[in-house]
Amino acid sequence: MSAYDPDNIFAKILKGEVPSIKVFEDETTLAFMDVMPQSKGHTLVIPKTGSRNLLDADPEILADLVKKTQIVAKAVATAMEADGLRIIQFNEPAAGQTVFHLHFHVIPVYEGVSLRPHSGDMADTGELTALAEMIRAAL
Ligand code: AMP
Repeated sequence: MSAYDPDNIFAKILKGEVPSIKVFEDETTLAFMDVMPQSKGHTLVIPKTGSRNLLDADPEILADLVKKTQIVAKAVATAMEADGLRIIQFNEPAAGQTVFHLHFHVIPVYEGVSLRPHSGDMADTGELTALAEMIRAAL
């Protein structure tokens, strides 16, 4: 497995070098809207400490990240009135990982609506901003 690259896109988001539409932040964790959402409200939750994925993460960072993912997931489910949620996490390219900074996907699922492809079309920024406001209000 390759080493963690501190210049990956999520590290740049953490450093404020790349914009993101934030829904939650505390001392250890950031959550923001996925720009290529698989469904309405698709959110990413990342630790502020760098690791490539789950395999090289410090277990304490991972444990904290799961707790924060639960907080975000509940807010996403409430705000989006989702029928269900998928919490997904990929490790290495063969498994579908495309950004090499640990993250959990929080993907709302709606009865009768198929998920869009992983890393598909870019969403409208204004629309994502409005959804993020709704999720923040449900935290
Ligand atoms: P993965 O394939 O699990 O590594 O997922 C990476 C996710 O990050 C994909 O769902 C992308 O749509 C999303 N993504 C990539 N770049 C950005 C970005 N700058 N801001 C928000 N989401 C991003």
